[in-house]
Amino acid sequence: MAKNLVILGGGESGVGAAILGKEKGMNVFLSDYGTIAGHYRRMLDDEGIEWEQGGHSMDRILAADEVVKSPGIAPTTPVMKAITEKGIPVISEIELAGRYTDAKMVCITGSNGKTTTTLLTYHILKNAGINVGLAGNVGRSMALQVAREKHDVYVIELSSFQLENMYDFRANIAVILNITPDHLDRYDYKMQNYINAKFRILNNLTPQDAFIYWQDDPVITSQLERIRTEAQLYPFAEHFEKGCHAYVDNDSDEASLIIDTPETSLRMPRAELSLNGLHNLYNSMAAALSACLLDIDKQEIRGALGDFEGVEHRLEYTATVNGVRYINDSKATNVNSCWYALESMPADTVLILGGKDKGNDYSEILPLVKEKVKAIICMGKDNSKLLDFFTGMVPEIHDTHSIQEAVATAAAISCEGDTVLLSPCCASFDLFSSYEDRGRQFKEQVRALESK
Ligand code: ADP
Repeated sequence: MAKNLVILGGGESGVGAAILGKEKGMNVFLSDYGTIAGHYRRMLDDEGIEWEQGGHSMDRILAADEVVKSPGIAPTTPVMKAITEKGIPVISEIELAGRYTDAKMVCITGSNGKTTTTLLTYHILKNAGINVGLAGNVGRSMALQVAREKHDVYVIELSSFQLENMYDFRANIAVILNITPDHLDRYDYKMQNYINAKFRILNNLTPQDAFIYWQDDPVITSQLERIRTEAQLYPFAEHFEKGCHAYVDNDSDEASLIIDTPETSLRMPRAELSLNGLHNLYNSMAAALSACLLDIDKQEIRGALGDFEGVEHRLEYTATVNGVRYINDSKATNVNSCWYALESMPADTVLILGGKDKGNDYSEILPLVKEKVKAIICMGKDNSKLLDFFTGMVPEIHDTHSIQEAVATAAAISCEGDTVLLSPCCASFDLFSSYEDRGRQFKEQVRALESK
């Protein structure tokens, strides 16, 4: 008898999983507690896949042999509790897709830098003429691509939520960029649970596979002693350390990025990298190492590292108005990503901070704030924690409650040569629908200044 596959969540990944399941001859039923977007409903109808929205039919869901869960659905929701109690296996869309392809898998996780590194790796491979698919948190559904397009390589951004429901999936190249506290509300406020989810990326790796990671991350290296992997290790670091396969050589006239694998040895001036900042150096190293391990020609890699255009809302240059540079880093939704944004800023930065606090500890950014920030503009529904922490630590601090007010204040207090950085450290849901919405509204306000 055909297997009953239930899909929870009718977004990009759920609809793709439903189509792949149907193509493989399963009885597919998709259920979404909210509303399914019109174009996804049409795709399901075109394929003759049954679906429901606005609630869950529990008897149909509990008749499943297997459930594919969207990463956004928490394991603590009533529907997930019932499924778990009944002992029905729950997998992610990537796990399902991985069963039906022999393509090489480059999988990227970390607390920060996943999207940038995934898109940069994809850019390098695409430029080199590889038949490559982009999947996971960015790009389109991997299951749909496996059903319809059949790529030779997939570059996949994996969040800890996705990794939680992956079991037999095997990466050929696994990357962990860094691990710092994030999403702890989903992990019983236990850092170890979050770390364990991230390290699931190493499950099933063989000696033919590679593990690329940041050597100077104490969380990653301490876990490596505990979680042994059979894969080949490719650590990277800012400065050469024993065993490192990517680093910067500062000894010659100009600082050079070195990538060194058994097959390829690449050297390029650091100044040629299109992405700025120390964090992006790491992201470039991880992407270049992955490309080298896939035997991409080194000139192709060098060219692509130099002409990558960056990603919207990540240290995105917006405009210069009256000699003041405006930078949109709306995706900096935690303290660590703001640290890296500040690290790459000049002195005289006006920093716009705030939003929905995730239990943040701002002491991590305090030294950089003292060194580089001339004013902080708090922007959120409730700025009291920021005001308490930063008052007296910077020459100026302002309390604002909308993006209009924040940008207008920034423009009023900054002088020629200053930089205004939106790098909020917080989630956006107090004033905006998403970090993208926040970034777009910031850019609109900055452009409005141009026309004044
Ligand atoms: P993710 O997909 O993991 O959220 P992004 O590539 O979208 O990561 O970048 C989010 C933010 O994190 C950026 O705005 C930047 O400030 C910061 N960031 C990017 N790469 C790194 C890194 N390697 N280490 C620390 N912070 C980073």
